[in-house]
Amino acid sequence: MLMLAIGNITYAILMAGYARSGTPDASMRIWTWAKVIQGCAFFTFWLRPELPPALGAFLSNGLLIVAAVGELAAYSLFMGYQWRRRLVVIAVLCELLLAAAVLGNASLVNLAGLMSLIVAAIAGLNAFFLIGAGLTLLRFIIGVPNLLIALGFLWRAWVGFTEGTLTVFSPGLPQTLLYLGAYFLLIVNGFGFLLLCKQKDERRLRELATRDGLTGLVNRHAFLGEAERAHSLARRLGKPMTLLMMDIDHFKGLNDRYGHAFGDQALRVFARAAQSTLRRHDVLGRLGGEEFAVFLPETDIGDALDAAERLRLAVAAARLDADGEACSMTVSIGVAELAADDVVSMALLRADAALYAAKRKGRNRVETAAPVHAPSPGAGFAVAQG
Ligand code: GH3
Ligand code: MG
Ligand code: MG
Repeated sequence: MLMLAIGNITYAILMAGYARSGTPDASMRIWTWAKVIQGCAFFTFWLRPELPPALGAFLSNGLLIVAAVGELAAYSLFMGYQWRRRLVVIAVLCELLLAAAVLGNASLVNLAGLMSLIVAAIAGLNAFFLIGAGLTLLRFIIGVPNLLIALGFLWRAWVGFTEGTLTVFSPGLPQTLLYLGAYFLLIVNGFGFLLLCKQKDERRLRELATRDGLTGLVNRHAFLGEAERAHSLARRLGKPMTLLMMDIDHFKGLNDRYGHAFGDQALRVFARAAQSTLRRHDVLGRLGGEEFAVFLPETDIGDALDAAERLRLAVAAARLDADGEACSMTVSIGVAELAADDVVSMALLRADAALYAAKRKGRNRVETAAPVHAPSPGAGFAVAQG
Protein backbone atom coordinates (compact mmCIF):
# COMPACT_ATOMS: atom_id res chain seq x y z
CA MET A 1 0.00 0.00 0.00
CA LEU A 2 2.80 2.35 0.93
CA MET A 3 4.67 1.56 -2.31
CA LEU A 4 1.51 2.29 -4.31
CA ALA A 5 1.04 5.58 -2.43
CA ILE A 6 4.62 6.71 -3.04
CA GLY A 7 4.52 5.56 -6.67
CA ASN A 8 1.35 7.50 -7.46
CA ILE A 9 2.54 10.71 -5.83
CA THR A 10 5.87 10.42 -7.70
CA TYR A 11 4.02 10.12 -11.02
CA ALA A 12 1.87 13.12 -10.14
CA ILE A 13 4.98 15.23 -9.50
CA LEU A 14 6.61 14.06 -12.75
CA MET A 15 3.47 14.80 -14.75
CA ALA A 16 3.04 18.23 -13.15
CA GLY A 17 6.61 19.06 -14.16
CA TYR A 18 6.08 17.81 -17.72
CA ALA A 19 2.74 19.60 -18.15
CA ARG A 20 4.17 22.87 -16.85
CA SER A 21 6.80 23.11 -19.59
CA GLY A 22 4.59 21.74 -22.38
CA THR A 23 1.28 22.62 -23.97
CA PRO A 24 -1.38 22.92 -21.23
CA ASP A 25 -3.81 20.07 -21.67
CA ALA A 26 -6.95 19.37 -19.60
CA SER A 27 -6.41 15.60 -19.69
CA MET A 28 -2.90 16.01 -18.19
CA ARG A 29 -4.28 18.16 -15.37
CA ILE A 30 -7.00 15.62 -14.58
CA TRP A 31 -4.43 12.83 -14.72
CA THR A 32 -2.09 14.61 -12.30
CA TRP A 33 -4.85 15.21 -9.74
CA ALA A 34 -6.09 11.62 -10.13
CA LYS A 35 -2.57 10.42 -9.27
CA VAL A 36 -2.40 12.70 -6.20
CA ILE A 37 -5.78 11.41 -4.98
CA GLN A 38 -4.78 7.82 -5.70
CA GLY A 39 -1.62 8.32 -3.66
CA CYS A 40 -3.74 9.67 -0.77
CA ALA A 41 -6.14 6.71 -1.12
CA PHE A 42 -3.30 4.20 -0.74
CA PHE A 43 -1.88 6.12 2.24
CA THR A 44 -5.30 5.80 3.86
CA PHE A 45 -5.38 2.06 3.10
CA TRP A 46 -1.96 1.82 4.76
CA LEU A 47 -3.25 3.75 7.79
CA ARG A 48 -6.49 1.78 8.08
CA PRO A 49 -5.48 -0.39 11.04
CA GLU A 50 -5.04 2.89 13.00
CA LEU A 51 -8.38 4.40 11.90
CA PRO A 52 -11.95 3.66 13.09
CA PRO A 53 -13.06 0.80 10.75
CA ALA A 54 -16.04 2.51 9.09
CA LEU A 55 -14.18 5.80 8.56
CA GLY A 56 -11.09 3.98 7.24
CA ALA A 57 -13.15 1.85 4.87
CA PHE A 58 -15.13 4.79 3.52
CA LEU A 59 -12.17 7.19 3.19
CA SER A 60 -9.74 4.79 1.51
CA ASN A 61 -12.25 3.25 -0.91
CA GLY A 62 -14.01 6.56 -1.55
CA LEU A 63 -10.74 8.24 -2.53
CA LEU A 64 -9.79 5.23 -4.66
CA ILE A 65 -13.05 5.54 -6.63
CA VAL A 66 -12.54 9.28 -7.25
CA ALA A 67 -8.96 8.64 -8.37
CA ALA A 68 -9.85 5.70 -10.64
CA VAL A 69 -12.68 7.62 -12.31
CA GLY A 70 -10.31 10.61 -12.66
CA GLU A 71 -7.80 8.41 -14.47
CA LEU A 72 -10.62 7.14 -16.66
CA ALA A 73 -11.71 10.74 -17.38
CA ALA A 74 -8.16 11.63 -18.43
CA TYR A 75 -8.02 8.69 -20.84
CA SER A 76 -11.48 9.40 -22.25
CA LEU A 77 -10.71 13.11 -22.78
CA PHE A 78 -7.32 12.29 -24.28
CA MET A 79 -8.90 9.88 -26.78
CA GLY A 80 -11.60 12.43 -27.64
CA TYR A 81 -14.62 10.72 -26.08
CA GLN A 82 -17.48 12.92 -24.83
CA TRP A 83 -18.07 11.01 -21.59
CA ARG A 84 -18.01 13.84 -19.03
CA ARG A 85 -21.59 13.39 -17.79
CA ARG A 86 -21.47 9.59 -17.92
CA LEU A 87 -18.28 9.57 -15.83
CA VAL A 88 -19.82 11.83 -13.18
CA VAL A 89 -22.79 9.44 -13.00
CA ILE A 90 -20.43 6.45 -12.70
CA ALA A 91 -18.44 8.12 -9.88
CA VAL A 92 -21.57 9.15 -7.94
CA LEU A 93 -23.12 5.70 -8.35
CA CYS A 94 -19.97 3.95 -7.10
CA GLU A 95 -19.69 6.31 -4.11
CA LEU A 96 -23.37 5.72 -3.22
CA LEU A 97 -22.89 1.95 -3.40
CA LEU A 98 -19.83 2.25 -1.14
CA ALA A 99 -21.68 4.52 1.32
CA ALA A 100 -24.63 2.10 1.43
CA ALA A 101 -22.28 -0.82 2.08
CA VAL A 102 -20.36 0.98 4.86
CA LEU A 103 -23.49 2.44 6.52
CA GLY A 104 -25.23 -0.94 6.20
CA ASN A 105 -22.35 -2.51 8.15
CA ALA A 106 -21.36 -4.76 5.26
CA SER A 107 -18.70 -7.30 6.21
CA LEU A 108 -15.09 -6.70 5.10
CA VAL A 109 -15.55 -9.67 2.77
CA ASN A 110 -18.51 -8.11 0.97
CA LEU A 111 -16.82 -4.71 0.89
CA ALA A 112 -13.77 -6.28 -0.76
CA GLY A 113 -16.08 -7.99 -3.25
CA LEU A 114 -17.89 -4.74 -4.07
CA MET A 115 -14.67 -2.76 -4.49
CA SER A 116 -13.23 -5.53 -6.68
CA LEU A 117 -16.25 -5.21 -8.98
CA ILE A 118 -15.86 -1.41 -9.13
CA VAL A 119 -12.12 -1.57 -9.86
CA ALA A 120 -12.74 -4.26 -12.51
CA ALA A 121 -15.38 -2.09 -14.21
CA ILE A 122 -13.14 0.99 -14.24
CA ALA A 123 -10.04 -0.89 -15.46
CA GLY A 124 -12.25 -2.48 -18.13
CA LEU A 125 -13.41 0.97 -19.28
CA ASN A 126 -9.77 2.13 -19.37
CA ALA A 127 -9.05 -0.79 -21.70
CA PHE A 128 -12.12 0.11 -23.78
CA PHE A 129 -10.88 3.71 -24.30
CA LEU A 130 -7.33 2.58 -25.01
CA ILE A 131 -8.06 -0.29 -27.39
CA GLY A 132 -10.93 1.55 -29.11
CA ALA A 133 -10.92 3.52 -32.37
CA GLY A 134 -7.55 4.84 -33.57
CA LEU A 135 -5.61 2.00 -31.93
CA THR A 136 -1.81 2.33 -31.95
CA LEU A 137 0.85 -0.08 -30.69
CA LEU A 138 1.47 2.06 -27.59
CA ARG A 139 -2.24 2.20 -26.77
CA PHE A 140 -2.46 -1.56 -27.21
CA ILE A 141 0.50 -2.09 -24.86
CA ILE A 142 -1.20 0.07 -22.19
CA GLY A 143 -4.68 -1.30 -22.84
CA VAL A 144 -3.93 -5.02 -22.46
CA PRO A 145 -2.66 -4.84 -18.82
CA ASN A 146 -5.76 -2.79 -17.95
CA LEU A 147 -7.91 -5.53 -19.43
CA LEU A 148 -5.98 -8.26 -17.57
CA ILE A 149 -6.31 -6.38 -14.26
CA ALA A 150 -10.04 -5.95 -14.92
CA LEU A 151 -10.33 -9.73 -15.35
CA GLY A 152 -8.16 -10.30 -12.24
CA PHE A 153 -10.41 -8.14 -10.05
CA LEU A 154 -13.53 -9.79 -11.48
CA TRP A 155 -12.06 -13.09 -10.38
CA ARG A 156 -11.25 -11.60 -6.94
CA ALA A 157 -14.87 -10.44 -6.60
CA TRP A 158 -16.06 -13.93 -7.56
CA VAL A 159 -13.76 -15.59 -5.02
CA GLY A 160 -14.71 -13.01 -2.38
CA PHE A 161 -18.45 -13.51 -2.75
CA THR A 162 -18.37 -17.30 -3.12
CA GLU A 163 -15.72 -18.32 -0.58
CA GLY A 164 -16.58 -15.62 1.93
CA THR A 165 -13.07 -15.26 3.40
CA LEU A 166 -11.26 -12.73 1.20
CA THR A 167 -10.84 -9.22 2.67
CA VAL A 168 -8.53 -6.34 1.81
CA PHE A 169 -6.02 -7.66 4.40
CA SER A 170 -6.18 -11.40 3.56
CA PRO A 171 -2.84 -13.07 2.87
CA GLY A 172 -2.34 -15.66 0.13
CA LEU A 173 -0.85 -16.01 -3.31
CA PRO A 174 -3.83 -14.82 -5.43
CA GLN A 175 -4.21 -11.67 -3.33
CA THR A 176 -0.45 -11.02 -3.49
CA LEU A 177 -0.46 -11.50 -7.26
CA LEU A 178 -3.30 -9.03 -7.56
CA TYR A 179 -1.48 -6.38 -5.52
CA LEU A 180 1.63 -6.94 -7.64
CA GLY A 181 -0.67 -6.54 -10.65
CA ALA A 182 -1.92 -3.23 -9.26
CA TYR A 183 1.69 -2.09 -8.87
CA PHE A 184 2.42 -3.20 -12.44
CA LEU A 185 -0.63 -1.22 -13.59
CA LEU A 186 0.66 1.84 -11.75
CA ILE A 187 3.83 1.68 -13.87
CA VAL A 188 2.02 0.86 -17.12
CA ASN A 189 -0.57 3.62 -16.76
CA GLY A 190 1.89 6.14 -15.29
CA PHE A 191 4.55 5.79 -17.99
CA GLY A 192 1.97 4.97 -20.62
CA PHE A 193 -0.02 8.17 -20.23
CA LEU A 194 3.19 10.23 -20.14
CA LEU A 195 4.35 8.61 -23.39
CA LEU A 196 0.93 9.13 -24.99
CA CYS A 197 1.13 12.85 -24.10
CA LYS A 198 4.64 13.03 -25.51
CA GLN A 199 3.52 11.38 -28.75
CA LYS A 200 0.64 13.84 -29.05
CA ASP A 201 2.96 16.82 -28.43
CA GLU A 202 5.42 15.54 -31.02
CA ARG A 203 2.62 15.08 -33.57
CA ARG A 204 1.51 18.65 -32.93
CA LEU A 205 5.07 19.97 -33.36
CA ARG A 206 5.55 17.96 -36.56
CA GLU A 207 2.30 19.43 -37.92
CA LEU A 208 3.48 22.94 -37.04
CA ALA A 209 6.85 22.36 -38.68
CA THR A 210 5.53 20.88 -41.93
CA ARG A 211 2.10 22.47 -42.49
CA ASP A 212 1.07 25.92 -43.55
CA GLY A 213 -1.38 27.13 -40.92
CA LEU A 214 -3.55 29.14 -43.31
CA THR A 215 -4.31 26.56 -46.01
CA GLY A 216 -3.39 23.31 -44.27
CA LEU A 217 -1.11 22.40 -47.20
CA VAL A 218 2.48 21.23 -46.73
CA ASN A 219 4.94 24.12 -46.46
CA ARG A 220 7.96 24.76 -48.69
CA HIS A 221 10.37 22.67 -46.61
CA ALA A 222 8.08 19.64 -46.40
CA PHE A 223 7.09 19.96 -50.07
CA LEU A 224 10.72 19.88 -51.22
CA GLY A 225 11.45 16.89 -48.96
CA GLU A 226 8.46 14.94 -50.27
CA ALA A 227 9.25 15.88 -53.88
CA GLU A 228 12.86 14.65 -53.49
CA ARG A 229 11.63 11.34 -52.07
CA ALA A 230 9.00 10.91 -54.81
CA HIS A 231 11.59 11.76 -57.46
CA SER A 232 14.11 9.18 -56.28
CA LEU A 233 11.34 6.55 -56.30
CA ALA A 234 10.21 7.62 -59.79
CA ARG A 235 13.82 7.44 -61.00
CA ARG A 236 14.27 3.93 -59.65
CA LEU A 237 11.05 2.75 -61.30
CA GLY A 238 11.88 4.58 -64.53
CA LYS A 239 8.64 6.60 -64.31
CA PRO A 240 8.19 10.23 -65.34
CA MET A 241 7.46 12.99 -62.83
CA THR A 242 6.35 16.57 -63.37
CA LEU A 243 6.28 19.80 -61.36
CA LEU A 244 3.85 22.70 -61.55
CA MET A 245 4.68 26.16 -60.22
CA MET A 246 1.67 28.42 -59.70
CA ASP A 247 1.19 32.05 -58.79
CA ILE A 248 -2.19 33.74 -58.30
CA ASP A 249 -2.63 36.65 -60.71
CA HIS A 250 -2.86 40.23 -59.43
CA PHE A 251 -3.20 39.00 -55.89
CA LYS A 252 -1.87 42.24 -54.47
CA GLY A 253 -4.78 44.04 -56.15
CA LEU A 254 -7.25 41.61 -54.48
CA ASN A 255 -5.65 42.35 -51.09
CA ASP A 256 -5.62 46.10 -51.68
CA ARG A 257 -9.22 46.18 -52.84
CA TYR A 258 -10.94 43.87 -50.33
CA GLY A 259 -8.50 43.66 -47.44
CA HIS A 260 -5.95 41.19 -46.13
CA ALA A 261 -8.56 38.93 -44.45
CA PHE A 262 -10.28 38.51 -47.79
CA GLY A 263 -6.90 37.69 -49.34
CA ASP A 264 -6.43 34.96 -46.73
CA GLN A 265 -9.88 33.58 -47.55
CA ALA A 266 -8.97 33.60 -51.26
CA LEU A 267 -5.81 31.59 -50.50
CA ARG A 268 -7.91 28.97 -48.71
CA VAL A 269 -10.41 28.83 -51.59
CA PHE A 270 -7.51 28.50 -54.02
CA ALA A 271 -6.02 25.59 -52.06
CA ARG A 272 -9.39 23.78 -51.95
CA ALA A 273 -10.13 24.33 -55.65
CA ALA A 274 -6.64 23.21 -56.70
CA GLN A 275 -6.69 20.16 -54.44
CA SER A 276 -10.09 19.07 -55.80
CA THR A 277 -8.64 18.60 -59.30
CA LEU A 278 -5.62 16.53 -58.22
CA ARG A 279 -5.18 12.79 -57.72
CA ARG A 280 -4.50 11.25 -54.33
CA HIS A 281 -0.75 10.86 -54.90
CA ASP A 282 -0.20 14.37 -56.27
CA VAL A 283 1.22 16.72 -53.65
CA LEU A 284 0.18 20.35 -53.46
CA GLY A 285 2.26 22.68 -51.30
CA ARG A 286 2.35 26.38 -50.46
CA LEU A 287 5.83 27.66 -51.20
CA GLY A 288 5.08 31.10 -49.71
CA GLY A 289 2.76 34.09 -50.22
CA GLU A 290 0.46 33.33 -53.17
CA GLU A 291 2.88 30.85 -54.73
CA PHE A 292 2.06 27.16 -54.79
CA ALA A 293 3.60 24.07 -56.36
CA VAL A 294 2.44 20.55 -57.21
CA PHE A 295 4.42 17.47 -57.99
CA LEU A 296 2.73 14.85 -60.10
CA PRO A 297 4.30 11.39 -59.78
CA GLU A 298 3.99 8.99 -62.73
CA THR A 299 2.92 11.83 -64.99
CA ASP A 300 4.54 12.83 -68.28
CA ILE A 301 4.46 16.34 -69.67
CA GLY A 302 1.32 15.73 -71.76
CA ASP A 303 -0.76 14.54 -68.79
CA ALA A 304 0.73 17.27 -66.61
CA LEU A 305 -0.43 19.93 -69.08
CA ASP A 306 -3.96 18.45 -68.89
CA ALA A 307 -3.81 18.48 -65.09
CA ALA A 308 -2.55 22.08 -65.06
CA GLU A 309 -5.32 23.16 -67.41
CA ARG A 310 -7.96 21.45 -65.22
CA LEU A 311 -6.52 23.19 -62.20
CA ARG A 312 -6.47 26.59 -63.93
CA LEU A 313 -10.14 26.22 -64.92
CA ALA A 314 -11.17 25.09 -61.41
CA VAL A 315 -9.49 28.13 -59.84
CA ALA A 316 -11.16 30.49 -62.34
CA ALA A 317 -14.53 28.88 -61.59
CA ALA A 318 -14.21 29.16 -57.80
CA ARG A 319 -16.41 31.97 -56.46
CA LEU A 320 -15.18 34.41 -53.84
CA ASP A 321 -17.59 36.41 -51.78
CA ALA A 322 -16.41 39.96 -51.06
CA ASP A 323 -19.15 41.38 -48.80
CA GLY A 324 -21.91 40.11 -51.07
CA GLU A 325 -20.02 41.01 -54.24
CA ALA A 326 -19.08 37.86 -56.18
CA CYS A 327 -15.61 37.85 -57.67
CA SER A 328 -13.02 35.32 -58.80
CA MET A 329 -9.30 34.90 -59.29
CA THR A 330 -7.02 33.39 -61.89
CA VAL A 331 -3.71 31.59 -61.74
CA SER A 332 -0.67 31.33 -64.00
CA ILE A 333 1.10 27.98 -64.16
CA GLY A 334 4.55 26.83 -65.30
CA VAL A 335 5.13 23.12 -65.99
CA ALA A 336 8.48 21.30 -65.97
CA GLU A 337 9.23 17.62 -66.37
CA LEU A 338 11.94 16.06 -64.22
CA ALA A 339 14.58 14.14 -66.13
CA ALA A 340 16.13 11.03 -64.54
CA ASP A 341 19.37 12.83 -63.61
CA ASP A 342 17.53 16.01 -62.59
CA VAL A 343 17.33 17.67 -59.18
CA VAL A 344 14.04 18.96 -57.84
CA SER A 345 15.36 22.47 -57.12
CA MET A 346 16.59 22.83 -60.73
CA ALA A 347 13.25 21.62 -62.12
CA LEU A 348 11.49 24.12 -59.86
CA LEU A 349 13.62 26.90 -61.34
CA ARG A 350 12.62 25.80 -64.85
CA ALA A 351 8.94 25.64 -63.85
CA ASP A 352 9.35 29.12 -62.34
CA ALA A 353 10.78 30.44 -65.61
CA ALA A 354 7.79 28.95 -67.46
CA LEU A 355 5.47 30.56 -64.91
CA TYR A 356 6.99 33.96 -65.62
CA ALA A 357 6.58 33.33 -69.33
CA ALA A 358 2.86 32.72 -68.58
CA LYS A 359 2.74 36.02 -66.65
CA ARG A 360 4.39 37.87 -69.53
CA LYS A 361 2.00 36.39 -72.06
CA GLY A 362 -1.01 37.81 -70.23
CA ARG A 363 -1.58 35.55 -67.11
CA ASN A 364 -4.36 32.97 -66.53
CA ARG A 365 -2.51 30.44 -68.68
CA VAL A 366 -0.22 27.40 -68.64
CA GLU A 367 3.30 27.42 -70.09
CA THR A 368 5.84 24.61 -70.44
CA ALA A 369 9.53 24.82 -69.56
CA ALA A 370 12.10 23.78 -72.14
CA PRO A 371 13.22 20.17 -71.53
CA VAL A 372 16.39 19.91 -69.51
CA HIS A 373 18.32 18.21 -72.36
CA ALA A 374 16.99 20.35 -75.20
CA PRO A 375 18.30 18.90 -78.47
CA SER A 376 20.76 21.22 -80.18
CA PRO A 377 19.80 22.68 -83.60
CA GLY A 378 22.72 20.76 -85.08
CA ALA A 379 20.94 17.50 -84.20
CA GLY A 380 18.24 18.24 -86.72
CA PHE A 381 15.78 20.27 -84.56
CA ALA A 382 14.95 23.93 -84.83
CA VAL A 383 14.37 25.79 -81.56
CA ALA A 384 11.63 28.37 -81.87
CA GLN A 385 12.50 31.73 -80.33
CA GLY A 386 9.52 33.42 -78.67
P1 GH3 B 1 1.24 38.86 -60.35
O1 GH3 B 1 0.03 38.63 -61.18
O2 GH3 B 1 2.37 39.39 -61.14
O3 GH3 B 1 1.62 37.64 -59.60
O4 GH3 B 1 0.86 39.99 -59.33
P2 GH3 B 1 0.62 39.85 -57.77
O5 GH3 B 1 -0.07 41.07 -57.32
O6 GH3 B 1 -0.08 38.58 -57.49
O7 GH3 B 1 2.09 39.70 -57.24
P3 GH3 B 1 2.86 40.35 -56.05
O8 GH3 B 1 4.02 39.43 -55.80
O9 GH3 B 1 3.19 41.78 -56.36
O10 GH3 B 1 1.90 40.32 -54.82
C1 GH3 B 1 1.77 39.25 -54.01
C2 GH3 B 1 0.94 39.68 -52.83
O11 GH3 B 1 0.55 38.59 -52.02
C3 GH3 B 1 1.67 40.63 -51.94
C4 GH3 B 1 1.41 40.15 -50.55
O12 GH3 B 1 0.92 41.16 -49.71
C5 GH3 B 1 0.34 39.08 -50.73
N1 GH3 B 1 0.44 38.02 -49.76
C6 GH3 B 1 1.48 37.21 -49.51
N2 GH3 B 1 1.18 36.33 -48.53
C7 GH3 B 1 -0.09 36.60 -48.14
C8 GH3 B 1 -0.96 36.03 -47.15
O13 GH3 B 1 -0.63 35.08 -46.43
N3 GH3 B 1 -2.21 36.56 -47.03
C9 GH3 B 1 -2.60 37.60 -47.82
N4 GH3 B 1 -3.83 38.08 -47.65
N5 GH3 B 1 -1.80 38.16 -48.73
C10 GH3 B 1 -0.57 37.67 -48.90
MG1 MG C 1 4.07 36.05 -56.36
MG1 MG D 1 0.83 36.75 -57.95
